[in-house]
Amino acid sequence: MKADLHSFESLAALDGEGVRYAVFFTGCPLRCACCHNPDTWHPSGREYESEELARKLRRYRPYFRNGGGITFSGGEPLLHAAYINEVAALLRDDGIGYALDTSGAVPLTDAVRQAVDGADLVLLDLKYPNAKQYADYTKGDFDVFCRFADYLSETRKRVWYRTVIIPGVNDSEEALDGYLSLLSRWNRPEKYELLAFHTMGFYKYEKLGMENPLRDTPPMDAVRLQELQAYLDRRLA
Ligand code: SF4
Repeated sequence: MKADLHSFESLAALDGEGVRYAVFFTGCPLRCACCHNPDTWHPSGREYESEELARKLRRYRPYFRNGGGITFSGGEPLLHAAYINEVAALLRDDGIGYALDTSGAVPLTDAVRQAVDGADLVLLDLKYPNAKQYADYTKGDFDVFCRFADYLSETRKRVWYRTVIIPGVNDSEEALDGYLSLLSRWNRPEKYELLAFHTMGFYKYEKLGMENPLRDTPPMDAVRLQELQAYLDRRLA
């Protein structure tokens, strides 16, 4: 089986535990207004056979001590769930595990469930806490996301939530209360991290001739982000 891969990032320390090797797939159904990687939305990379990718990933095995491993990211990696399952099977005997960095905006097919079940950890983007904002700022279906998160909770998956904080959209304690209220229907996450909206990907919209819905939005202030993270941590303590 083949998949179109956008890029790789070796020794990425942020996308899961330990030292990671991140694989970025192309294709994403969500079209977030805040996306800083619109160049991943369509196939644009290079196709890899699953065996070829597994061979490449095996080379990084010495770095995966202390809980490290592969992180499948994107784009939306779970659009390629069957492919991930194939690669994971090829790497299983080598003891190489993987994390999924996903928006959860995918239906729960058998292949998606298998990919989730096989993951050591799921990094889940909690985009917006209600159907209205989800529709205003993405092209996804809030119910699809909720069913995905329900499944993670039912299967007691290890989950780290992440939310991008955007000035004027969700940069307030009241907004965080909305996220916390949604979160209360699921198991407590191991971690919930707020990420700053930034403008470093703006040039990609221009280069691709795409409209950037948040072109007039400034980057998120780092100090304010810390305050919001502290508020969230207090509420989750
Ligand atoms: S889920 Fe990620 S890649 Fe897809 S549009 Fe949103 S931010 Fe971009």
